[in-house]
Amino acid sequence: MSDEHAEIQGDLSGKTLGQYEIIRPLGKGGMATVYLARQASIGRTVAIKVMPAYFMHDPSFLQRFEREVQVIARLQHPRILPVFDYGEIEGRPFIVMAYMSGGTLSDRIKEGKLPLDEIVRLVEQIAEGLDHAHKKGIIHRDFKPSNVLLDENGNAYLADFGIAKVTESTVQLTGSGIVGTPAYMAPEMANQGLVTPAIDIYALGITLYEMLTGEYPYHGDTPLRVMMAHATEPVPDPCEKNPECPPAVAAVVRRAMAKNPEERYATAQEMAAALRAAVEGRAVETVEPTMLEATLMEADEGGEPTLLESAPAEASTLPPTAEAPAARRPAGAPTARRAATPPPHYTSPSVEAQPAPAARPKKRKKFPVALVGIAGAILLLVLCGGGFMLLGGAALLAPPTPTPLPTPTLRPTPTPPPPPTSVPAPVGAELRLENRSGRPVCYVNVSPSTDDTWGPDRLGPSTVIADGEDYLLTGIEPNTYDLRALDCDQNEIASRFGVAINMAGFTWTITSQAAEPGTVSLTVVNDSSYVICYVYISPTTDTTWGASDLPEGLSIRPGQQRSFTIEPGDWDLRAETCDQQTYWERLGNSISGDFEWTLTD
Ligand code: AMP
Repeated sequence: MSDEHAEIQGDLSGKTLGQYEIIRPLGKGGMATVYLARQASIGRTVAIKVMPAYFMHDPSFLQRFEREVQVIARLQHPRILPVFDYGEIEGRPFIVMAYMSGGTLSDRIKEGKLPLDEIVRLVEQIAEGLDHAHKKGIIHRDFKPSNVLLDENGNAYLADFGIAKVTESTVQLTGSGIVGTPAYMAPEMANQGLVTPAIDIYALGITLYEMLTGEYPYHGDTPLRVMMAHATEPVPDPCEKNPECPPAVAAVVRRAMAKNPEERYATAQEMAAALRAAVEGRAVETVEPTMLEATLMEADEGGEPTLLESAPAEASTLPPTAEAPAARRPAGAPTARRAATPPPHYTSPSVEAQPAPAARPKKRKKFPVALVGIAGAILLLVLCGGGFMLLGGAALLAPPTPTPLPTPTLRPTPTPPPPPTSVPAPVGAELRLENRSGRPVCYVNVSPSTDDTWGPDRLGPSTVIADGEDYLLTGIEPNTYDLRALDCDQNEIASRFGVAINMAGFTWTITSQAAEPGTVSLTVVNDSSYVICYVYISPTTDTTWGASDLPEGLSIRPGQQRSFTIEPGDWDLRAETCDQQTYWERLGNSISGDFEWTLTD
């Protein structure tokens, strides 16, 4: 989380929230700060998660917060972090939880590889919690080591059910789609949005790999590449990185991380039992890799990638409907604000919340189009599902299709599946965003220039591009686009019109238009139904309006806004439609600080 958000949030240490005395911050997640606190009435130490005021009015965050409470209320289990209380103070919701002094499993892994007996104990404890949730019809969906808290004795508790899916629901939860953390995201979830308990087992498999090796099994510098790696790369052998790892443990990892969810362990406790047996040298039921996984392994070892030979490697573009604009959002409307999630840092990635990287991400290597085509082909073969359709920086993939996954086979089948006749390329052009504006960017619109609305925001609901950070949008169909970036208060920071983005990609540097000292920002918000082509900002002392301040060829469409940098002073303001009718005129505004001028019919 950036300092900016910390500033807005304010440290609540020393304050009192109801009956809770806040002692000190324990940590920050994607949407809230967790404090150590004391419940004076019963002398109990607790942890309180407080939503920052910054996101107070965001319905999606409030909803996630409430969801966490509702879900945990249904899940009383010794291995699931208990919630004691839920409240709101000065409009700021908070959750009171048991305090876990041992930190998170992620912290523990950062200290180094874990001994085998500790790994077995943790997996058993986690498995009890996960199976309990599954039996209650709840899928965690974002299981990962940072969502496992440890008590003073190192016992594990599952936490952060904020995006859990409730399958048999008396709790009304809305929201669907691809959510989670790419590093732990099962292939079927990324590709088809298929959410079953098997995705939690998969994530537990990744966590087991991490506990054994101290590393992620799959790497990539964008969420898309990480997700593709889950689908296309063979499960790496953890024992290659850990000499103490018995080979039978690698088989447990392989089965937990099977590409085909039906080949994974049916329950987390079944996996835990297999792990214990493997560590204790007892027989473990091994699962032969499927034909597809065997092929991936062969390709990885430099063998002939026979299944790929007939797959066309050239890229084709996504259908234009991938960019279909959503209904126009009036400026200032209470649309989703974002978690203070830093931009994805995809060697340690998360579309939810990871600590902000201190340094800017390295310039990434260009991804060869041919490789993309091959990877897409593998993906199709592996998943037999819909195309890998990217919609944005958070790499949303194709909507769920009814196409089933390959029939589960525990042994190689003699005939490989027929090669696909056409393989849509998984990505189009790339748009690299460089935020040098001095403000965090929460919204980016990439709208075909032919559209007269901005269409959907492309950052996804939980991404903030901090100042100084870069962000890569992939899957942009080559076209001519209008680009717009808004800060987290929905003020326009930058817009640029009519940019042709071709397959080679495009870099757009977002710089603040009111960065110079001694200037202020005048934001013109067009809340009318007219397109504005002329804006006049003229000193009140002038008797003429002078030239329009809106550069020729640019316009401010309904629902759009545009910022101008001006000196503090007395200004007359006027706006005209494109046929030069003056619909808005406002005279003699004394502008001393940033100013917003809203135009209505
Ligand atoms: P979260 O917002 O749930 O991701 O939590 C952010 C950080 O706060 C975690 O990474 C932990 O370091 C810390 N934390 C969260 N919940 C607790 C708790 N119940 N007890 C102790 N520390 C916690």
